Amino acid sequence: MPFRLLRFALNRRYPEPRMFAAPERLKDEYDVVIIGGGGHGLAAAHYLANEHGITNVCVLEKGYIGGGGTGRNTAIVRSNYLTPEGVAFYDRSVELFSDLSRALKFNLFYTERGHFTLAHSQSSLRTMRWRAEVNRHLGVDSEVVDPAFIRNACPEIDLECGHQSRIHGALYHPPGAIARHDAVAWAFARGAGRRGVEIHQQTPVTGIQIEDGRVAGVHTTKGFVRTRKVLSAVAGWTTHITKMVGLRTPLVVHPLQACVTEPLKPWLDHIIVSASLHLYVSQSTRGELVMGASLDPAELISHRSTLDFAEGLAGHLLDLFPCLGEVKIMRQWAGLSDITPDFSPIMGRTPIEGFYIDAGWGTWGFKATPVSGWTMAHTIARHEDHELIRPFSLSRFGRYDLVGEKGAASVGH
Ligand SMILES: Cc1cc2nc3c(=O)[nH]c(=O)nc-3n(C[C@H](O)[C@H](O)[C@H](O)COP(=O)(O)OP(=O)(O)OC[C@H]3O[C@@H](n4cnc5c(N)ncnc54)[C@H](O)[C@@H]3O)c2cc1C
Repeated sequence: MPFRLLRFALNRRYPEPRMFAAPERLKDEYDVVIIGGGGHGLAAAHYLANEHGITNVCVLEKGYIGGGGTGRNTAIVRSNYLTPEGVAFYDRSVELFSDLSRALKFNLFYTERGHFTLAHSQSSLRTMRWRAEVNRHLGVDSEVVDPAFIRNACPEIDLECGHQSRIHGALYHPPGAIARHDAVAWAFARGAGRRGVEIHQQTPVTGIQIEDGRVAGVHTTKGFVRTRKVLSAVAGWTTHITKMVGLRTPLVVHPLQACVTEPLKPWLDHIIVSASLHLYVSQSTRGELVMGASLDPAELISHRSTLDFAEGLAGHLLDLFPCLGEVKIMRQWAGLSDITPDFSPIMGRTPIEGFYIDAGWGTWGFKATPVSGWTMAHTIARHEDHELIRPFSLSRFGRYDLVGEKGAASVGH
């Protein structure tokens, strides 16, 4: 190593610039406490500080930032949902995402790839037409395409799927994109930190103090802090937090697994999803095929990986891409998915004064990171649900007023 470089590395006058300040001690009181240092919690902190001038905020993270679903997802961003409420919400996120690298001055490797949802039957093609109609009505670029279009875009696909499940067409969504997921967490953390938000890692919240029906503070392993506003943004751990305040939700938690192959030369431009084959795949900028399937069948809070998953996925991948027979799987992992009955999120104010919820992100929450932070910051600052999230209130389950997105949100993250 050149001597000058070594001298620079050891010189205390040139410390490595930190992404954000990490104070050792918690203050006695904050205006807002955010539980969960995933993308959603950090984005809410960023927008609170940068758009609403609320900077006496701390983010409490039990592990390290981005260590939950944010750093485990397969990074698909799209807005071709089924309901007008869902399409409007996710479309705002795509809009924020497409300018986020510039806004946060951080390269998020956001790349538009085009997103195909394959239809293996005439009935699924009907659902695709329905989605395309809703999408286009709301200005989202989305259309139903025939097998010849798919073959032209991706010649490697076997349209007969090994004679198992022929492809009849697809919903094609050109703005479908991928991004670097951990960078999203780091960029929002830096944006919030520059405005004075404190980010405390290794700081689990162990209890929430409620007095006279409203939030009074938060207990952590590093002591008690007073606050009148708490945002729970803990995705797969939401049921632990809602138990602390005595709130019931219809959430269930299932593991969701994913894997990557060894790096290959770039060949797959698009994101390909097949609900019938329980499979989706894209190629990362490093050349790895990033793949996943449906949720694990049983409710479980666990990060284990299973051979069943890898075998099932590999079999279906070969039905679609027989050319991949010699490719090796390199890494496999799992994350937690907090699933609602209608596959839409739960967002906004709750019956407990000062307790705000951002949950129900299942298999689809990464793409919502900027819009959830943006709308939750508005909701907390003004104590009024942002109009984009009103359809996603917790109270909808009591009113049976669901926002059914299962047809557009299950396998196709
Ligand atoms: C394998 C997989 C693939 C996926 N693919 C996609 C995809 O392609 N596109 C898409 O849009 N979505 C996808 N998702 C879903 C997406 O990852 C999540 O919905 C999203 O990351 C949720 O972000 P979050 O910030 O709400 O939660 P998280 O990133 O999970 O952050 C929550 C944080 O809260 C912390 N926490 C929990 N309890 C406490 C406590 N008591 N005190 C303090 N901190 C606590 C956790 O440590 C964690 O860091 C996928 C998920 C998985 C698992």
